[in-house]
Amino acid sequence: MAEEQATEHVKCLIIGSGPAGYTAAIYAARADLKPVMYTGLEMGGQLTQTTDVDNFPGYPEGIMGPAMMEDFKKQAERFGTEVRFGYVSSVDFSAMPHKVVVDESKTVTADTVIIATGATAKWLGLPSEQQYNGFGVSACAVCDGFFFKGQDVAIVGAGDTAAEEATYLAKLCNKVYMLVRRDEFRASKAMVHRVLNTPNIEVIYNTQATEVMGNGKNVTGVCVFNHKTNESKVLPVEGFFVAIGHKPNTDIFKGWLDMDDTGYLVTVPGSSKTNIEGVFACGDVQDHYYRQAVTAAGSGCMAALDAERYLAAKGDPVTHLA
Ligand code: NDP
Repeated sequence: MAEEQATEHVKCLIIGSGPAGYTAAIYAARADLKPVMYTGLEMGGQLTQTTDVDNFPGYPEGIMGPAMMEDFKKQAERFGTEVRFGYVSSVDFSAMPHKVVVDESKTVTADTVIIATGATAKWLGLPSEQQYNGFGVSACAVCDGFFFKGQDVAIVGAGDTAAEEATYLAKLCNKVYMLVRRDEFRASKAMVHRVLNTPNIEVIYNTQATEVMGNGKNVTGVCVFNHKTNESKVLPVEGFFVAIGHKPNTDIFKGWLDMDDTGYLVTVPGSSKTNIEGVFACGDVQDHYYRQAVTAAGSGCMAALDAERYLAAKGDPVTHLA
């Protein structure tokens, strides 16, 4: 990290503004930790890329993802969280207090750091995929499968996530086409067995999606190409799910924090503690399994309570339980 001068010291710095970050902020602010949040470049996180959210408790009529994140922000600010637009470009966790560089220019020191930088869904990179994102295209079957009840859908991917999501969709949808780019799965044998034994999933091997078709408003089909037969065809589907993996946003923590093979932060089981004292992680950045707004929010609460208890144990005078 470059030798910048510390310009500001905070008790609790939160990095990231999805459900985990905002929930951590609500708890930390109510506990008088005076949290400062840096939102990242995508303020509100992955939910700002979705349309209807029907599975977050407390919204009986559902809510649009961006509006929900606005509510989260307002609630965090109501208790005094300082929400700042900016991205953390590097960190230095070698000594206390922790150092964080914002926008490659400003250094902030912090007694506690809560990391809620999330993960980013991988996409195929087709322009039509982005055009219909939220209007028939989704990277989360558990979030959006319900909207395709009784309809035909396609899912791309051959890993455990795709296998799990295909079987989830099969329970809701009439038919699920599963597009596997090679002639075999990457998923575990047990998951493959489950897919192959689900009657309304049709696995199409050696095949990639080349275009998402639509009527300007919704998805109407997907054009696929089989590279073994050199044939293209259109599958008439209303939903198109991409399940080709996620990338956790952890590049700036490399060398500081323990990560698994795929880059997710490793926390002490049952807590949000990382391998560095005073640094906590919550939400999708440390969870490749559940990846739901509500589980992220729950882990954000854990991170704030862990931070608060850590400061209290250090003799911080002003902390009290939220
Ligand atoms: P993976 O990286 O394991 O799998 C990604 C899949 O997407 C691969 O089959 C890959 O194909 C395919 N893919 C990648 N890019 C493209 C593309 N451009 N076009 C078409 N297909 C593409 O990601 P997952 O999210 O499935 O899993 C991540 C981790 O989480 C894994 O370790 C997994 O085991 C774990 N997990 C475990 C679960 C469980 O235990 N129940 C549930 C969910 C995840 P190819 O095989 O050809 O490379």
